[in-house]
Amino acid sequence: MTDIISRPAPPRLAIDGDSRTFPVGRVFCIGRNYADHAKEMGAAAEAIFFTKPASAVTTDAALPYPTETEDLHHEVELVLALGDGGRIIASGVGVDLTKRDLQARLKAKSAPWEIAKGFDGSAPMGSLRLGEPPASGAISLSVNGVTRQSGDLAQMILPPAALLAELGRFFALQPGDLVFTGTPAGVSALVPGDQVSARIAGLPPLDFTLTERR
Ligand code: MN
Repeated sequence: MTDIISRPAPPRLAIDGDSRTFPVGRVFCIGRNYADHAKEMGAAAEAIFFTKPASAVTTDAALPYPTETEDLHHEVELVLALGDGGRIIASGVGVDLTKRDLQARLKAKSAPWEIAKGFDGSAPMGSLRLGEPPASGAISLSVNGVTRQSGDLAQMILPPAALLAELGRFFALQPGDLVFTGTPAGVSALVPGDQVSARIAGLPPLDFTLTERR
């Protein structure tokens, strides 16, 4: 049998200190997993999950400011990388870029968020580090050297194991899945020219620059 089309290769993430790469399959995200961010967005008792397509993942150092928004927000997040059996094999730093104005309009209509969350380049990622993710430690994001978000992984409402158990009620987790685990308080807007630095203690750093609109 011959396929009638050739699919694009999946994005691949580098692994710190290892020559192998991690091919990205699906991307799952949780909303409001830090108490302080839940408060700033309006708290919800039930975990809110959404997905981004694999095409959202990028390792480019320069990203064009996306179309269809005037209010692009950053959300720094610990990202889990899953292997056989849906178990965590590595983790890294990611940013969940969000068209907040578009998301707000969709929320008002109780409509899905996909176009505000899953656009191309909406999931910048750093390299992965093999092993269990850190259970605690600083997570932060700065823009042009000024800290915007600062928290601790220990503030997660659902830490990684509990988050995967909850997500696993709805999806059979599989190798290649990435799981964005939510963001601490301090989300705010980016503009073209901004230099973004995302950090989690013990994990490879993530740096990128937003360039002018295409
Ligand atoms: Mn997020």
